[in-house]
Amino acid sequence: GTATSSKSAQLAEQLEQGSRYALAKSITLVESSRSDHRALAQELLSTVLKRQKESKDAKPTFRIGLSGSPGVGKSTFIEAFGMYLLEQGHKVAVLAVDPSSSRTGGSILGDKTRMTELSRADDAYVRPSPSRGTLGGVSDVARNTNEAIILCEAAGYDVTLVETVGVGQSETMVAEMVDMFVLLVGPGGGDELQGLKKGIVELSDMVIVNKADGKLEDAARSAAMDYTSAIKFLQSPSPLWKAKVVRVSSRNNIGIDKSWEIMKSYFDTMTAAHKLAEKRGAQRKVWMWRQITSELVDRLNGDENVKKHVAKLESQVFDGKMTSGQAADSVVDVFLNKVKENKI
Ligand code: GDP
Repeated sequence: GTATSSKSAQLAEQLEQGSRYALAKSITLVESSRSDHRALAQELLSTVLKRQKESKDAKPTFRIGLSGSPGVGKSTFIEAFGMYLLEQGHKVAVLAVDPSSSRTGGSILGDKTRMTELSRADDAYVRPSPSRGTLGGVSDVARNTNEAIILCEAAGYDVTLVETVGVGQSETMVAEMVDMFVLLVGPGGGDELQGLKKGIVELSDMVIVNKADGKLEDAARSAAMDYTSAIKFLQSPSPLWKAKVVRVSSRNNIGIDKSWEIMKSYFDTMTAAHKLAEKRGAQRKVWMWRQITSELVDRLNGDENVKKHVAKLESQVFDGKMTSGQAADSVVDVFLNKVKENKI
């Protein structure tokens, strides 16, 4: 209604003035499970996107995903890299997709105090992981983050880092919300190259071998060589770009500038070929379908007729009297018939 529109217009205004308070509040709305909050959040997002489209002097924005196993040095890297970007005149936002923050207890990313220096900087915004247990599954957390990126950009943060841990689907989902996906690995060498992790290397536009310092320097050099030769045989995420490997010591601030140089070269290559806008458009379509799927399943699960019907079918499927496929068809039919009758 109009109350919602004026509230969202006011928030959009405050966001554009760079208010951290408005940004925190807006992201909280996006993360909320309350339907009035979500409605306001959607209104806000559409206001912000419209204004961005209309504005002529919009700064280019760069979304970078960063993944790696726990302990590999993600927060140390982000602290050093973020401070470097601030020196270069950028405004930096850091968001996290923590697959462990939903449903269950322990958070992999969130518990310790992370990136303390960056968190205090005026031109940086470090969003703490969403509070635990208040959200749905990984895909809900990821969807919220995807929307939070837009809000950060509206508030003037031109580089957004989205951090995640190498667990389950979270890496794929982060890769689907950023311009460039970066994998951070340790000097221990190729465990990421085997089996399951090969798929993650394949998603990556850049591999950072961290902890390339002191006693670990030789190991880091040989790990970097392993990744470089492995990448030759892997499919690239984009035909215009072959993944680059770089050695970094986040602790000693070595290779941070080189990392940014590579990222900028990726950005320039993709922008010059008009591939970045195309990628973002395709990503928006992916997220639209994700949302359709989850919305439909939610509505189906909330339907009383379906509930009754499902209880019967489940026991028949359990007993082997009906195939899973037949039962699924039947549930969907019952749901759609009800939708037609009530004209929802
Ligand atoms: P995260 O779990 O991936 O965020 O990893 P952290 O940033 O918390 O780092 C895990 C451990 O590795 C900490 O003890 C860091 O001090 C250490 N570490 C991080 N970066 C480096 C580095 O470049 N060199 C060395 N030697 N240690 C590092």
